[in-house]
Amino acid sequence: MTHTKVLVPTMGALHAGHLSLIEIGKQYSREIVVSIFVNPLQFEDPQDLAKYPRSVESDSQQALLAGATQIWAPTVEEIYPDQVSVIDSGVIGRKFEGVGREGHFDGVLTVVDRLFKHVQPTHAVFGEKDFQQLFIIKKWAKKSKLGIEIISAPVIRDVDGLALSSRNVRLGADDRKTALVISRALRQATHERSVESARDRLHDVLASEPGFELDYAEIINEDNFEPATSARKSRALVAGWVNGVRLLDNMQMSASVIA
Ligand code: AMP
Repeated sequence: MTHTKVLVPTMGALHAGHLSLIEIGKQYSREIVVSIFVNPLQFEDPQDLAKYPRSVESDSQQALLAGATQIWAPTVEEIYPDQVSVIDSGVIGRKFEGVGREGHFDGVLTVVDRLFKHVQPTHAVFGEKDFQQLFIIKKWAKKSKLGIEIISAPVIRDVDGLALSSRNVRLGADDRKTALVISRALRQATHERSVESARDRLHDVLASEPGFELDYAEIINEDNFEPATSARKSRALVAGWVNGVRLLDNMQMSASVIA
């Protein structure tokens, strides 16, 4: 059997979503490297970078328990020892998450490239939670002929429906209730009969929650990230803020609707 090695890149503050990536990685290799690196290049707001939760010790323990065989938590100097030449994430990198966060996806691709060069994995696992990130990395890996298989992992949610995120710890009890509007809107929209009605439903449900500040809500075609014109291979994306905490989620249009 050819030698395989899986990389699971993270920024730490691990939760069950990250651990599910490790679990999926086990299907591809016995060797699983979990990297923990808060990448300054993908934060536009120094406050957001400073506030990002850091817990390398407990993260390492959790990751090892979940089946990681190596934890790698490099310093900024290790990843960026030289002048950084940033990788361009192209047109799609400037849509949705890239609109208000200029250079965000260029920063993501640049760090992923460096992580790949250090670890030299045969496979890398990324979550659908960050669907645009996954799309951009897949496209770049294919175009660059890296020979690394990019594996996608489904969104893991809490029992109440809220997608797990390292930022959820910043939500108070009331904020959390408000935040549930996101998964509620996605669930309802993805069961609509057409893309048009799904779009309307998404916006209506989100607008019904005054504590939710919308950034964007759209149904996109999974193949090209353009606004979808049919339900087949399309996905609803939502991003916004609850009490200053940025939240992001997505859901594929329901198979029963498409059939
Ligand atoms: P982060 O530490 O936020 O950079 O996330 C590291 C990886 O975990 C990324 O590939 C994310 O998409 C993935 N991830 C984060 N939250 C979830 C979740 N709730 N379900 C599945 N994957 C997730």
